[in-house]
Amino acid sequence: MSIQVAVNGYGTIGKRVADAVALQPDMDLLGVAKTRPNHEAELAVENGYPLYAAIEERVGLFEEAGVELAGTVGKMVDAADIVVDATPSGTGADNKSLYDDYDTPALYQGGEDAALVDTSFNARGNFDAAEGADHVRVVSCNTTGLSRLLAPIQEEYGVEKARITLVRRGGDPTQSGRGPINDILPNPVSLPSHHGPDVNTIFPELSIDTLGLKVPATLMHTHSVNVTLESTPDAADVRELLDEQSRTFLIPESSAIDGAGKLKEFAMDRGRPRGDLWENCIWAESISMEGSDLYLFQAIHQESDVVPENVDAIRAVFGTADAEESVELTNETMGMGL
Ligand code: NAD
Repeated sequence: MSIQVAVNGYGTIGKRVADAVALQPDMDLLGVAKTRPNHEAELAVENGYPLYAAIEERVGLFEEAGVELAGTVGKMVDAADIVVDATPSGTGADNKSLYDDYDTPALYQGGEDAALVDTSFNARGNFDAAEGADHVRVVSCNTTGLSRLLAPIQEEYGVEKARITLVRRGGDPTQSGRGPINDILPNPVSLPSHHGPDVNTIFPELSIDTLGLKVPATLMHTHSVNVTLESTPDAADVRELLDEQSRTFLIPESSAIDGAGKLKEFAMDRGRPRGDLWENCIWAESISMEGSDLYLFQAIHQESDVVPENVDAIRAVFGTADAEESVELTNETMGMGL
């Protein structure tokens, strides 16, 4: 029997997760909930996704706009086997009691506190931890990117210390109110940034320090990575290891891709929905070893790398597949691999 999945919050992450769930042979997209009858609400209806009002008092707004509703969010949560909460940071915490009222397990996104949930989740890092959990947090875009990178490195070579500088986009392309517009901001100024502790929600023992900057860009984040290893492999070995991972894309030197702009163009040229890049994009020639220090650059598409992770987290909660089976199925159905 297919897992009945509801998505509460149909914005940047929610609409992508809804599309990915709809592609899964073992899941049905039961519906999506929205607060307002905007263009994304119309898109849900056009896609044939049952649309629910997230706020009961606003049902009239949908009626006035001529956007057809299947009901209100309580009905959707009641009927679902699991809810993916993709509402803005902090709103997931407000919604927790709603999911508890209907005894429906929920996935939350990286904007929520780790303390809200039974476990944080990354498919490559700790798939099994989510089995049977009622509240699971799929870690943020940056933490997902770091977890996917550090898991194989830790397993293969051992990590003495990871030091990462995250150059973060100021906002998503649609977030017209965010910035900076003309500045480079240490963010936060005090160390460490929250990303290191967040990676520790997946790998509690890993020694990692992170620093963050915010820049006037919208397309992707870029990570400058230095990991002191417990052994001294050749750069070529590390390149091969990272190439073997199913959610990494090693950008070949020959592609002449110099940054996020060309990466997004590459994805759009290849027909990726919304120009999404679900994989960590690692510049192959940046992978270097100096003694036991590994260096590399990777770009992370903040709007989409967590999407396959949400799909895997659903299977992880119900124990319907192991990590390898789930990742393979998600990758195949979504068309992962560049
Ligand atoms: P978003 O603002 O694009 O989308 C959120 C949607 O939820 C909007 O459509 C909003 O109208 C709706 N909403 C607001 N209140 C609601 C409520 N009470 N009930 C139902 N819907 C409600 O935000 P987003 O970027 O998709 O972020 C969602 C979550 O994903 C956050 O926790 C965020 O930190 C996390 N996340 C975002 C990114 C990113 O770069 N965009 C990356 C990874 C994780």
